[in-house]
Order: sequence, then structure tokens, then C-alpha cells
Amino acid sequence: LCHFAAGEEATTDTPPSDEIPDPVRSFEEAFFKYPDILTTVRAQGFTEPSPIQCQAWPVLLQGKDLIGIAQTGTGKTLAFLLPALIHIDNQPVPRSERGGPNVLVLAPTRELALQIEMEVKKYDYHDIKCVCLYGGGSRKDQVDIVLKGVEIVIATPGRLNDLCVAGYINLSSITYLILDEADRMLDMGFEPQIRKVLLDVRPDRQTVMTSATWPEGVRRLAKSYTKGAVQVYVGTLDL
Ligand code: ADP
Ligand code: MG
Repeated sequence: LCHFAAGEEATTDTPPSDEIPDPVRSFEEAFFKYPDILTTVRAQGFTEPSPIQCQAWPVLLQGKDLIGIAQTGTGKTLAFLLPALIHIDNQPVPRSERGGPNVLVLAPTRELALQIEMEVKKYDYHDIKCVCLYGGGSRKDQVDIVLKGVEIVIATPGRLNDLCVAGYINLSSITYLILDEADRMLDMGFEPQIRKVLLDVRPDRQTVMTSATWPEGVRRLAKSYTKGAVQVYVGTLDL
């Protein structure tokens, strides 16, 4: 388990390694300021955070970008999701006046997008609402949910791009972006759609990227979409 500032192309944006917060050792240490988060985590019956969660939570709660390179099953969803819920709560503008969602999760497949949606719904946190947008699902049903108001959009890049082009979704209120399983999204040929939809996302947002591997294409995406990211590598979660 190690952590260091990202990238061969280290720039002045990259914080020196002594600014990287130490990993936490417990849920309590990570979320002592957020008792409702602790309550929801405890309800899951988990005994301790996974290595990537220990590393990711303090980094993300400081508002830094994060790149998590870790195999499937290492607990990446909660690593980015719990800070996302806190991020939504912490926005100064009341939810009804934000003009759109604050969190966007891009995922490579419908199955993964639906799994992430299930996690959000399971946590059922502070009435935060989400929509899951994927090809094959009813466009009309998806748009109806968006129009009722959501804080989190979970989407495959193709469908999201369709709905953005059609004018149903405005990403200008996104302040927390997640590119989940970036390597698989590239393998599936989604780079053009990713690049198109992200043209509209605020440059001052926070970004999390996860990937099982770290090939050139993923590094290229990281360079385009993260700033001074803390990079974390981990092995598998011993369940
Ligand atoms: P990944 O995205 O890295 O493939 P997931 O986030 O889908 O992994 O998590 C894999 C499984 O581990 C899920 O069933 C999740 O509920 C569970 N899990 C997540 N965090 C913990 C934890 N701290 N302790 C035990 N199980 C966990
Ligand atoms: Mg995952």
C-alpha cells in the first residue's frame, strides 16, 4: 500500500507529498465530522475500511483529486461515494437552486452503472436522489427522473452524451466527477463520448478516476481530467 502525487508529468498543480493526508484506520477516524455517514456505514455491518477507502477518504474529504488503481472488489464504490454524499451536503447553495446535479459518475456498462445506483439507494442518505442513464433503458423514464431533480447522475458515456445533445441534461452544475473503471471505458471505445460530455463540466470540479490498470490511454485521460491528483495503488480486499 503506497501513495504519492500522480504523474510523470508532475506540474506545479501537484501538491508536494507532505500535503497528502495520512490514511485513516477506521470509519470513525474518516467520518467523525459526519455522524449520519457513520450511522449508514455501521448499518452495513462492515468492520473496517478497505485499503483504498483508508487512503481515499481523507484525500477526497480535503477536496483533492484522486486516481485509484485497484482491482475489482477492493471497495472503490464506497471510496468515492461517501465523499460524494458529503460533497453534495456541503454545497452552499440550497439543492433546489443548484440548477442540476452535483455529482456525475461515468461507468463503462449498464450493469456497473446499476450497481452504483443500488449502492446510492442502499445508503439512502439525506434524501439525495440519483438517476441511472444507460443505453437500452427507457429514455423517457430516465429523462422523467432527471426532470424531477437529482443530485447524482450515474451514466454510461453513450447514453449520457445522447441526452446531453438532446438538451435534457445540463452538466454545468457538476462539481464532483467520477470516471469509474476508466480502462474499461476506453476498451469499449467511449473516449469520444467522454470527451464530448466533459466539455461542459466545470473546470473547478473535483475528480476521481478509478482503473484496474494504468496504460497510456488511462494516463492520457488522467492528464486531461485530473489536477494534482493523489494516486493510490492497492491490492485486493480480503473479504
Ligand atoms: P470495486 O468497485 O473495487 O470492484 P465494490 O465497491 O463494488 O468494489 O465493492 C466490492 C464489495 O465489497 C461490495 O459488495 C461492497 O459492498 C463490499 N465492501 C465495500 N467496502 C467494504 C468494507 N469496508 N468492508 C467489507 N466489505 C466492503
Ligand atoms: Mg467498482
